[in-house]
Amino acid sequence: MQALKNEGLSPKMIDRFFRPLVGGIQLDADLTASRRMFDVVLHCLAVGSSAVPAAGMAAIPRQLAAGIPDDALRLNTAVAQARSGQVTTVDGQVILADNVVIATEGPAAARLLGLAPVASRAVSCVWFAASEPPFTQPLIGLDSCQSGPALNVAVMTNAAPEYSSDGRALIAAACPNLGARAYEGAYGSDLVQAVRVQMQEWFGTQARGWTHLKTNVIAHAQPESGPPFAPKRRVKLSDGLFVCGDHRDTPSIQGALFSGRRVAEMIQEQAVPN
Ligand SMILES: Cc1cc2nc3c(=O)[nH]c(=O)nc-3n(C[C@H](O)[C@H](O)[C@H](O)COP(=O)(O)OP(=O)(O)OC[C@H]3O[C@@H](n4cnc5c(N)ncnc54)[C@H](O)[C@@H]3O)c2cc1C
Repeated sequence: MQALKNEGLSPKMIDRFFRPLVGGIQLDADLTASRRMFDVVLHCLAVGSSAVPAAGMAAIPRQLAAGIPDDALRLNTAVAQARSGQVTTVDGQVILADNVVIATEGPAAARLLGLAPVASRAVSCVWFAASEPPFTQPLIGLDSCQSGPALNVAVMTNAAPEYSSDGRALIAAACPNLGARAYEGAYGSDLVQAVRVQMQEWFGTQARGWTHLKTNVIAHAQPESGPPFAPKRRVKLSDGLFVCGDHRDTPSIQGALFSGRRVAEMIQEQAVPN
């Protein structure tokens, strides 16, 4: 926020554009996140294209897993303890390995490895289906009038028609900061009703007929990125014990992948005989 003011941007520009856009991306409606992280986000938006995988977000881990033999993967098995050379699953199995890489989200990694606690940014996402989309372009609608609780709204099927099996529009309304605590507003704790009323203000009576599909309440959606913010945090904890994920880099998919690559390169280097 201070950086935007220092750049001479008007309160109107900050409140109507940056707060709902960047506040929605960084789950930080108060714009308290680090200037460094803000610059990363703005740079990515300016030079890159925004996209979602047509096959859904799970396409990313599926693509990563495709290069690994099936029998090397053990899915849906939570790890209870981890140390150099071995992990123990919640059902008591001990798995030995030359290198252990903990790639869980920050709070779980901190618990497993005894690292400093990782604070969370929360979000609730309210999903609707509509016979007609409220707009047809692949845009993000911003809450420029601060009507809340949704800070931004996307018609996902405008970007990825594959996300609908029956031709209806899939609408996502993102409500940052809600997740760790329950919503309390003009409609009590009824977040769906509050978003529906907000959408009627934006798009008129059509929003009354939208079908509520689901609400995701995500207490840890991103690690906290307030100042002082230092990406490229340590990923090697000791010989044979590594940690990666968005909490070791920037709080993003890109950050998670970068930190994973740093770990992979370290392991590869130590495997090369002198
Ligand atoms: C609604 C929403 C929208 C987002 N939008 C974007 C976006 O547009 N662009 C972007 O870059 N980022 C976005 N993000 C952030 C992005 O999803 C994260 O930064 C990214 O997924 C972090 O990846 P990760 O591999 O570090 O952790 P995660 O993707 O959280 O994966 C950690 C995995 O560890 C598993 N796990 C946890 N504990 C254990 C245990 N004890 N044993 C075994 N496994 C365990 C979890 O089940 C999980 O599968 C969004 C996040 C949310 C919630």
